[in-house]
Amino acid sequence: MSQHFETNSIRIAKSKSNQKEHSAPIYLTSSFTFDSAEEARATFADEIEGNIYSRYANPNSTDLIEKICAAEGTEDGIATASGMAAMFASIASLLQQGDHVLAARSLFGSTHQLLTRVFPKWGITSTYGDISDFENWDKLVQSNTKMLFIETPSNPGLEIIDLEWAGKFAAAHNLILVVDNCFASPYLQQPAKWGAHIVTHSATKYIDGQGRVLGGLILGKKELIKDVQFFTRHTGPAISPFNAWILSKSMETLGVRMDRHCSNALTVAEHFEGNSEIISVKYPFLKSHPQHHLAVKQMSQGGGIVTLDLKGGVQRAQRFIDNLQMVSVTANLGDSRSIVTHPASTTHSKLSEEERNRVGITDGLIRLSVGLEHYDDIIQDVDQALTKSK
Ligand SMILES: *Cc1c(COP(=O)(O)O)cnc(C)c1O
Repeated sequence: MSQHFETNSIRIAKSKSNQKEHSAPIYLTSSFTFDSAEEARATFADEIEGNIYSRYANPNSTDLIEKICAAEGTEDGIATASGMAAMFASIASLLQQGDHVLAARSLFGSTHQLLTRVFPKWGITSTYGDISDFENWDKLVQSNTKMLFIETPSNPGLEIIDLEWAGKFAAAHNLILVVDNCFASPYLQQPAKWGAHIVTHSATKYIDGQGRVLGGLILGKKELIKDVQFFTRHTGPAISPFNAWILSKSMETLGVRMDRHCSNALTVAEHFEGNSEIISVKYPFLKSHPQHHLAVKQMSQGGGIVTLDLKGGVQRAQRFIDNLQMVSVTANLGDSRSIVTHPASTTHSKLSEEERNRVGITDGLIRLSVGLEHYDDIIQDVDQALTKSK
């Protein structure tokens, strides 16, 4: 293994066959054969390494996991069919009835549903803390608290949580620290360096990067991953070999894509900061971002998401979206194509206005996932839609 992200993301390829192919093949097979009854016995007993069944592991998912582990600095991992399968499995496998999760309030919508509506059915409860109030988080820890779950930067508020603080807090209270690293990608931020025990991803976003397939990842220390693996092997959220192949190939270009996403996003954010039609522009690497100091400490660049808080509330935001000519209106992010969403009327419409305000989702907030088109064209499209929606 190399010291360098770029090399590992391209050169790790255990799945080579004996055909001398240069590009990794796709192993579309449900199961793998054994040369003898003894080999079957020893493989099942974990005495020798070998593939058994694609619900357990497949060469394509193994390639993907090894590339991401090299990037994140984690020992082992599991690839799942979607990001949410990864979030669900990491909590369900490591906690049990009576346990409690402490989480930062700004969470991906479906993760919020898991914590507030799914896990309580099985006696796993949770409490949210506000990131503006870290001094008081000690008081939120209960005798049954087992896990600290955070997302940074958060979706869509782009709040940054101090990973060093989170690592120390989790260690002091003996909590499993889980970090959803989807927004940063392993290229920009490695939470395990700061003490995260489990790192999760929706690979659907930047890791795929072209809006094609769903996928998820759970990464961490071998001993914890063993417990997660037991759970996933027997509950079945396995990724398809085809999707794992797509995502492993996408890792080859993650670095160059992220460099461009980040430079485009910074250019767009700087261009619109101070615009008279916009209340505020938020981007982790703008000096005006409230946690800019944390962003530059733990991220190598600011990521590909910019938020624009438009004047004129919900109706203005909707008029703005209706006037875009190039930028797509869709719920994904991290795509080569620029995308806008209006969280208040879509992804976060089920929250009350008070709940939305607490996580920074104002009526006029637009989430812009800055793509890989030329930044002049992105700026021009946003500009003309701002003017027409006045
Ligand atoms: C999209 C997303 C998820 C869920 O991932 P899927 O692949 O859509 O299941 C989880 N967390 C964050 C931060 C996301 O953006």
